[in-house]
Amino acid sequence: MSLDELYQELLLDHFKHPRCQGCLADPSSHSHVFNPLCGDQIALTIKSDGRNLNDLAFTGHGCSISQASASMMAELCKGKTLQEARTLLDAFRSLMRGEEPQNKELLGDVLALEGVRKFSARIKCALLGWEALERCLEEADPNRKLP
Ligand code: ZN
Repeated sequence: MSLDELYQELLLDHFKHPRCQGCLADPSSHSHVFNPLCGDQIALTIKSDGRNLNDLAFTGHGCSISQASASMMAELCKGKTLQEARTLLDAFRSLMRGEEPQNKELLGDVLALEGVRKFSARIKCALLGWEALERCLEEADPNRKLP
């Protein structure tokens, strides 16, 4: 099996059997993001003690790339520290910009989405779940200044 085929299978698997599905009771923060170009939606809830991303769960619908990416993000970031989750977010963003991220190896299965960057219209789909994560992280940050 070629790497492309392997990545294709991974994407399909996450789309058909999304990880970390649902909505956490009593979450530390939640976000809801929408991609009007494609109709993708992701609602994400996270639980954090201010240092760790203890748990996260999402619901959503839309194209396979948006849902598979959110599933991969959730699986990868669960149990990481908030700082590590931010590092992963930055690495994924830079990957989607066509750069070679410093911490590329940390992305693991998420690298299956690398091919998406050739299709500029779909990059927004791939980033959607991560955008939801970013909003949740901002809300969960204990050092955040209130507006
Ligand atoms: Zn989409």
